[in-house]
Amino acid sequence: MNKNKIWLSSPHMGGNEQKFIQEAFDTNWIAPVGANIDAFELGLELYLGTGYVTALNSGTAAIHLGLILLGVKAGDEVLCQTLTFSASANPILYQGAIPVFIDSEPDTWNLCPMALEEAIVDRIAKGKLPKAIIAVALYGVPYKIEEIRIIANNYNIPILEDSAEALGSSYKGKRCGTFGDVSTLSFNGSKIITTSGGGAIVTSTKELKDRSIFLATQAKENAPHYKHCEVGYNYRMSNVLAGIGRGQMEVLDKHVDSRRKMHEFYFDLFKGIKGFSVYMVPNADYFANYWLTTILIDPSETKGMTKETVRLKLLEENIDCRPLWKPMHLQPIYSNYPYYGKHVAESLFDSGLCLPSGSNLSDEDRDRIKAVFIDLFETQKKK
Ligand SMILES: *Cc1c(COP(=O)(O)O)cnc(C)c1O
Repeated sequence: MNKNKIWLSSPHMGGNEQKFIQEAFDTNWIAPVGANIDAFELGLELYLGTGYVTALNSGTAAIHLGLILLGVKAGDEVLCQTLTFSASANPILYQGAIPVFIDSEPDTWNLCPMALEEAIVDRIAKGKLPKAIIAVALYGVPYKIEEIRIIANNYNIPILEDSAEALGSSYKGKRCGTFGDVSTLSFNGSKIITTSGGGAIVTSTKELKDRSIFLATQAKENAPHYKHCEVGYNYRMSNVLAGIGRGQMEVLDKHVDSRRKMHEFYFDLFKGIKGFSVYMVPNADYFANYWLTTILIDPSETKGMTKETVRLKLLEENIDCRPLWKPMHLQPIYSNYPYYGKHVAESLFDSGLCLPSGSNLSDEDRDRIKAVFIDLFETQKKK
């Protein structure tokens, strides 16, 4: 039997990426300026339908610049979804600011509006109005866009929308990446499209885009000598890598379609199987790219089979799978910061698993995945 590794989510080239890279070489724009960057940004702007895009060298850099644009400084408090990848939270510490972690709610696994408001009220009572809210669209499912916006506006706190995992998702027909006061995207190797490494910040005005480019290119003032009045960063995307992004934009919709088909594959596989549930959008207002398909396994319904049983069995067959992101407030580096909520994120983490979801998986890959689960279901029946 073929035992090649089946990856969780691997790069999937469309075909024209190398053509655009070649153009960069032909014109000698091997720099963080050039036609590929301009075209990639324009392509993203047209896709999102609103906003100004600045291409950067990572999603993490985009979140960092986003916090700077929102005025987050040392000592400020920033509210951050606890169930996320560490890159959502680390830039808070880059700024010397203080993360305050917020629980998830069970419908979207993202920011819980109740826990968010409880935290805001309590932080104000303790003397400080939080400076920003980091809301994540985890695994490509939009957060409760309207509820979170109402709370943010009530208390006049801006939202940084981390849609690193949600390019191609939408809420009520509007694309993820356009809901924050600033929004961020990632194009690292595991994301729905990749530039091998890269990210973008989406802002509402041209002025904020210019400001993003200024900060991302060492904050060089307009003078013939090297004049600097502010701290700058080296965060701009390379024109070579933007060539990959241009090629990937041509296949983004296809990738969304394939990932959603993987989600359907798992939905059918687990239909009627006790104790297994496939995570999905709560209603038709939500459209998910299903960057990763995730499942919850309830051992009280599976005769004791846990997510660990499943994970080890898949690994045995050289099939990649991972637990959900471990909540930030449980991470050693973040365990001493405030947390608000009812431990929903913890219980998701305890029973959740991410399954192979790449747009490049083959029928043969799906057959191998299916065989493992059929085997597990059979063993369970015999117990
Ligand atoms: C991937 C990811 C990031 C970081 O993006 P990089 O491009 O790898 O720096 C940030 N937030 C979330 C939720 C992510 O999944």
